[in-house]
Amino acid sequence: MRQDDIDYTKQAAYFLRDAVKPLRIEIGSSHAHMLVAAALRYGSRRAMLDDPNGPYVYDQWLSGQADCVDGIRDAISKMRDASLSPDQAPMIAQLIQDGLTPACMECGTIDSRNMPIGAVRQGDEAEWVCMECASDRDNYGHCRCCGEEVLYEADQLDENGLCEEHEGEFDLDPEEEEDWESYIENIQKDD
Ligand SMILES: [Zn+2]
Ligand SMILES: [Zn+2]
Repeated sequence: MRQDDIDYTKQAAYFLRDAVKPLRIEIGSSHAHMLVAAALRYGSRRAMLDDPNGPYVYDQWLSGQADCVDGIRDAISKMRDASLSPDQAPMIAQLIQDGLTPACMECGTIDSRNMPIGAVRQGDEAEWVCMECASDRDNYGHCRCCGEEVLYEADQLDENGLCEEHEGEFDLDPEEEEDWESYIENIQKDD
């Protein structure tokens, strides 16, 4: 484990408690942890941590797995004197998915729509940015080949808007270049 590893299930519990405060909902710490575990299909945080096949809590990609709305509904209905009601389970699931997502490295926003930087695969470690910071075209952009799904830092793209892997994709090979040159010569002759 590296020093800067973040336990995203803990992050999600803090985030959840904070996010519902404006709604005048109070969630205690242990209940918040229980709800995060429930979203990941566990009866308790303990059960989640004890499961040898359980989720790796430092995994940046947990958000997509935390979709067990029924588990959350169940957990809420078992809570005593909770200010939550079971029909709020879908909202809680959404907040937990946000909370499990790595924070934007620029502004700290935690949102399930945050994007990793670079051509990373699910499970890879990356730096993440929020939609708003990513929309700054001076700093971020997309490779013409990789498409909108993959976000790059502006300096990872060449002057043709291509990533390292696709660099030179539209360059002509020497033979094509020769054809191209004689084509141009022919056109110019006609002038
Ligand atoms: Zn941001
Ligand atoms: Zn590319």
